[in-house]
Amino acid sequence: MNTYDAIVIGAGNGGLVGALTLAKAGKKVLLLEKHNIPGGAATTFVRGRFEFDVALHTLWGIGTDDNKGALREIFEKLDVYDKLEFVEQKEIFTLNVKDRFKADFPYEKSAYLDTLCAISPDEADNIRAYQDLLDRMAEEFYRLYDHLGEDINEENFPLMFEMGARSGEEVLHSYIKHPVIRAAYSILDGYTGIHVSKIPFLLLGCLYELGGGHHVKGGAQAMSNAIIEEFEACGGRVIYHAEVDKINIDNNQVTGVHLKDGREFQANRILSNANKVRTYVDFIDEKQVPESLFMNLKPSKPGSSIFALYIGLNCSPDKIGLENGINYLMDPSIKSITADARNNNIDWANSVYMSCYNIDDPDYSEPNTSAITVLVGNNVEPWMNLSQQEYHDRKFKLADNVLDLLEKFHPGIRDHIEELELSTPLTHMRYLGSPGGAIYSHSANFKDLITNKLDPRSPIEGLYFCGASIIVGGFNGTYMTGHSVGSLMLKEMTEEAA
Ligand SMILES: Cc1cc2nc3c(=O)[nH]c(=O)nc-3n(C[C@H](O)[C@H](O)[C@H](O)COP(=O)(O)OP(=O)(O)OC[C@H]3O[C@@H](n4cnc5c(N)ncnc54)[C@H](O)[C@@H]3O)c2cc1C
Repeated sequence: MNTYDAIVIGAGNGGLVGALTLAKAGKKVLLLEKHNIPGGAATTFVRGRFEFDVALHTLWGIGTDDNKGALREIFEKLDVYDKLEFVEQKEIFTLNVKDRFKADFPYEKSAYLDTLCAISPDEADNIRAYQDLLDRMAEEFYRLYDHLGEDINEENFPLMFEMGARSGEEVLHSYIKHPVIRAAYSILDGYTGIHVSKIPFLLLGCLYELGGGHHVKGGAQAMSNAIIEEFEACGGRVIYHAEVDKINIDNNQVTGVHLKDGREFQANRILSNANKVRTYVDFIDEKQVPESLFMNLKPSKPGSSIFALYIGLNCSPDKIGLENGINYLMDPSIKSITADARNNNIDWANSVYMSCYNIDDPDYSEPNTSAITVLVGNNVEPWMNLSQQEYHDRKFKLADNVLDLLEKFHPGIRDHIEELELSTPLTHMRYLGSPGGAIYSHSANFKDLITNKLDPRSPIEGLYFCGASIIVGGFNGTYMTGHSVGSLMLKEMTEEAA
């Protein structure tokens, strides 16, 4: 009864798709989730008459009918695509430095490039050449997911070996001189939490995949629910409020899991969607972990986290002059037009990311209301060791400061606030179980990519990883790890049976 072909720890994006991939192939799969709903960061929550997305602002990988994205192909294969309705985003982002500069960048590729070329006509050829390079890098990046756990070599991935490990900034600056174009091609580094000077060029490619950013009707929860429904329809079993606290291992082979409440389940294959470092440190007896593995994990550093305001307004976006879906709003006092996702400052913010879901999907909330999320890059350290009262006070002080900044761009916004919820890096740490509340797991720095993030296997037999611990976080990436690692497990099961 309690023995399975595979156990999946965590129903985040990677765990959900991994579990479904295995169940679709007829395997007996148990999915264990400590929360009471599926999705991890891909969930929604309700305050008053608003349902807020915890995390989803832009979903990459859906593409268009003519040019399907890699994620769409996986969703189709797993029979979840038709259960969902996607809403295309018109703009990739808007850059707005108060009283100095504002430019809207369309998502559609030729319109995006035309916008950049109009800003810096002398560099038009270089801009197009740079985007072409990003596109080729993105092609190799997505192909990596088909080769996880295999030999990744220079012949298969020539561009990645040539320049994937160079810093994004170094490559960008060798093509582009204009500060606004440089800013436009750097700002999305915030989605990975790695500054453009440190981000491996490999990862920039996928961020600038043009022509297909999406929202989903019902928010990210709709995707999580659709996947779990299909998983159960295929005979999979999910248990909520099921927190794994130990992976049982016998003679370097996983044998099952132990839950905090004392229950035990057996399987000789385990897919962990929990953070990789936590899996080794918290779930496995130190003596069972090879010393070499801890050496490999040394370059791992928690990625950056977020301070977030979830705001429900009792007016439509146009009432406060809000016209764009994804906005980078900056005070003129900022030193450079780049997102700072590594911020230790919890007293004030002079640059924020704001998304208003109703711009692309007017039905996202009730008529004459708006759902807005504002994000400020923030590290966990300054939030630690505060008393309960200090934590409360600092949280509201920072929110107040962010609202002051928003008032400069959208006068009157404060007066229209009907609901306001806040989250700090500690909130993300609590709900996602990621060290430092990292929203993209461990920072995909050069060394970590090479030593850890390309390998979903463990030296402990039968243990695999998916989600943001593999390659890089983000919705499409984590879903894709679930599918590729689930497929790798199936292949190995077949080989073993043969
Ligand atoms: C505020 C915010 C904004 C973001 N914006 C975007 C965006 O616009 N676009 C984008 O592409 N990405 C975005 N991201 C990143 C994206 O949401 C994540 O990278 C992705 O959802 C992580 O998926 P995952 O598979 O790693 O699982 P996670 O979401 O990390 O889920 C892990 C799951 O495992 C469970 N778990 C952990 N430990 C245990 C245990 N011991 N036992 C049982 N269960 C356990 C957790 O409860 C959780 O459900 C954002 C994230 C945040 C937080």
